[in-house]
Amino acid sequence: MVYFVEYNPSCRDCGVIDRISHLIQFISTDIEYDDYKSMTEYEFSVILEERLINFSPCRNCGSSNLSAQNIKIGDYKIYDFDKMIEVLKAENHITNLLILDLQKNYGEIELKVAGKSRNESDFISECMVKVNLLLNESPSRKFVLNRTDGNFQIVISGINIEGKHKLRIHRIINYGFSKEEIRSNLNKYFFENML
Ligand SMILES: [Zn+2]
Repeated sequence: MVYFVEYNPSCRDCGVIDRISHLIQFISTDIEYDDYKSMTEYEFSVILEERLINFSPCRNCGSSNLSAQNIKIGDYKIYDFDKMIEVLKAENHITNLLILDLQKNYGEIELKVAGKSRNESDFISECMVKVNLLLNESPSRKFVLNRTDGNFQIVISGINIEGKHKLRIHRIINYGFSKEEIRSNLNKYFFENML
């Protein structure tokens, strides 16, 4: 089966999102058509970006350091905030949701925190492990140095199953940040909130 995936290329260097939707054709050997519905946007983007290694460069700055945002598969918007909340609310277990949003303006970094107002402290410490692993494993090409403006956002849910959290990353937005800036700013938050 052949299906189309729609996305907006977003530049990790200058932060400009191409508002014109791009299309790429998938066949069932890439991902079975129905399997993507059990995936988060982040999980799908990892597979999609592998296919987009030869992206045409950013139309604003010429960089080829691009990510795929606003991913749609056919008519199905893979990241839908309201739908994600509904799914979490329907769980029979305690659920957690953490949204960390780093904004950098003229070199000044500010962290905004959203999601569930009272997350379990164990969940926060498990997020710290997950985020640090993810940063360690992510190739350096996904980050940039010496940018004065940027945004890094990560959306993580955690379902408490007998004291252990099943963590899932739903979305990552990332431009204008170095790994070290993300690591130090998020770890500061984790240390302050996991006890
Ligand atoms: Zn650019």
